[in-house]
Amino acid sequence: MSYNIAIDGPAGAGKSTIAKKIARKLGYIYVDTGAMYRAMALYLLREKVEPSETEKINVKCAEADITIGYENGEQIVYLNGENVNGLIRTEEVGNMASASSPNPNVRKKMVELQQKLAASKDVVMDGRDIGTCVLPDAQVKVYLTADSRVRAKRRYKELSEKGISCELDTIEKDIIERDKQDMTREISPLKQAEDAVLIDSSDKTIDEVADAIIALVR
Ligand code: C5P
Repeated sequence: MSYNIAIDGPAGAGKSTIAKKIARKLGYIYVDTGAMYRAMALYLLREKVEPSETEKINVKCAEADITIGYENGEQIVYLNGENVNGLIRTEEVGNMASASSPNPNVRKKMVELQQKLAASKDVVMDGRDIGTCVLPDAQVKVYLTADSRVRAKRRYKELSEKGISCELDTIEKDIIERDKQDMTREISPLKQAEDAVLIDSSDKTIDEVADAIIALVR
């Protein structure tokens, strides 16, 4: 049986950095589910679909073939065969991902793909609904959160380092808006699974959080 670690939490809580670190230490595969929703969002943006156009999203999401692969241990997301890793980290794509992810057809497609990946491999998977929906039987579940200002500062640093110009207040506003959308949607809202361990990373280093999770695994 494969061993699954589920990490959920709001945008910018440090999920991907920490999940990657744990995966490397344990020799597991890291699965970034947000990247899959982002690839779908990129397709919808390219097709000029508005988040409110439910019917159009239903049709368009069937056309988007999203798969993942690994190169040098890094997850690559393919959208209809194209490597889109370099195109999905913008705020525009993130906001579209949040706006389109409540769509049941989008979720069904992503969840099936994620469950298939975790069934055959030891994974550290991060997202919003991993502990509650995708992997309800995961051996370790963590709900990772942090203060919204702290999260905005982290995202600001990440974007600035990539040379993307941005503004801290706007990022915090976006983060709060995204949290609200993710937490209040009807299907699979972001929430802590009953059996998940809550970790607040506001005053913790990456290593402290990663070590705490590895201790849970051991
Ligand atoms: O984690 P990331 O910011 O890349 O996720 C982008 C968006 O994708 C989230 O705001 C959320 O709406 C959606 N998402 C989701 N379920 C997941 C992962 C991401 O609904 N498991």
